[in-house]
Amino acid sequence: MALTRADVLVVGAGAAGLMAACCAAARGRQTLLLEKSERPGLKILISGGGRCNLTTTRTGQDLEDQYGSHRGRWLRHALRSFPPAALRELVERQGVPLHEEDLEKIFPVSRRARDVLDAFVRLATGAGTELRTGCAVTSIGRGSDGFLVHAAADVFLARSVILATGGLSYPKTGATGDGYPWLRALGHTITATWPALAPLAVDAPWIHALQGIVLHEVELAVLAPDGRVLRRRRRPILFTHRGLSGPGPMDLAGDIEELAGAARLRFDFAPDRSREQIEQEWLREVAQHGRRHVGTLLPAGLPERARTALCSLAGVDGALAALAKEARRRLLDVVKNLIVPVRRSLGYAHAEVTRGGVALDEIDGKTMQSRLVPGLFVCGELLDVDGPIGGFNFQAAFATGRLAGLHA
Ligand SMILES: Cc1cc2nc3c(=O)[nH]c(=O)nc-3n(C[C@H](O)[C@H](O)[C@H](O)COP(=O)(O)OP(=O)(O)OC[C@H]3O[C@@H](n4cnc5c(N)ncnc54)[C@H](O)[C@@H]3O)c2cc1C
Repeated sequence: MALTRADVLVVGAGAAGLMAACCAAARGRQTLLLEKSERPGLKILISGGGRCNLTTTRTGQDLEDQYGSHRGRWLRHALRSFPPAALRELVERQGVPLHEEDLEKIFPVSRRARDVLDAFVRLATGAGTELRTGCAVTSIGRGSDGFLVHAAADVFLARSVILATGGLSYPKTGATGDGYPWLRALGHTITATWPALAPLAVDAPWIHALQGIVLHEVELAVLAPDGRVLRRRRRPILFTHRGLSGPGPMDLAGDIEELAGAARLRFDFAPDRSREQIEQEWLREVAQHGRRHVGTLLPAGLPERARTALCSLAGVDGALAALAKEARRRLLDVVKNLIVPVRRSLGYAHAEVTRGGVALDEIDGKTMQSRLVPGLFVCGELLDVDGPIGGFNFQAAFATGRLAGLHA
């Protein structure tokens, strides 16, 4: 077996690994980047529907809050030292112009994720990184002289190792959780992992019947078994033949998975108006337009198929004048408080990220170095960090990868 030496060995050529290698090599460290797939950055290529939602326009505290309070605080240094504006500037300097789209998302103007990937491969190799693809690392151990890293036919000896092997989502891209057992063996804690940012499987015929409809002005809330609201989202919802997709439902998948079958989803189809306001409006409508169909009471933006489904869920039909008080209450409940049990998402095969990972209190948030194993660095989705749809996951991967590369 051939022994190859390096100052810094980076495992995994996704967003975090490419950025880490680029920064380590730019500091003059002899840097080797090992990738098990035949090509680097497969997830960048398929991201954002092949267009790569690179980052977001959100900044500062607002940006940190998107990852939750504990994780956001831990990420503060990474995000403030490499905010979205710095990531944008880096990519644009590589000749890839970017622009903003809906939901504060930043995309390449070319609409090609490949341009972003090529820019990062160019940055890493241009700085002197040696990239080896088709090289699957199988184990990592500590020697007297650094880390001994084994791949199929090769052994590597490195002073520092940066692990950037990602999580468990979309395993066909190479992310199969390889880093977790290595880190456990080195003494690290891996928190429970869940699929996140995935479409939801929902066993409700009315939802399947609305397949293809997109709603924008609806608020979804995940309810715990005791009725507590765990998270609310007011982002687009797509009804599918299996359940719900689109940014709103997908953002909630991680919370639903964590509730392990006990989650309920609450729909509010008129989030800007209280029950009392709606009831007053409806009473006026009934008095003035008694001959109209009850479906006309429903929010104006709802398509006809959705109106029919909601009326039928409430068990109401016919003219407004004939709408009894009890039936009006039922319709109001459907509009403001429609609750559907949702046991699971479509799982890792469809999840954009993995929730959970390497425990953050064991990693120095200023350098990404392990607090347990000097010389070992962890970055990207392998960490217990995840954000909503909107470029937040790449932003965290690039920012943590950068810190690892600057300190390894
Ligand atoms: C369909 C889809 C769309 C997405 N769209 C967006 C988006 O538009 N915006 C956004 O912000 N986020 C998006 N994400 C999430 C984003 O892609 C990830 O958060 C990000 O890629 C994580 O980067 P990473 O470098 O940590 O991990 P990864 O990108 O998963 O990279 C890990 C790399 O390590 C390699 N590897 C694993 N094990 C080994 C081993 N044993 N030896 C060698 N190499 C190994 C893998 O092959 C892989 O190349 C999307 C994800 C998916 C699946």
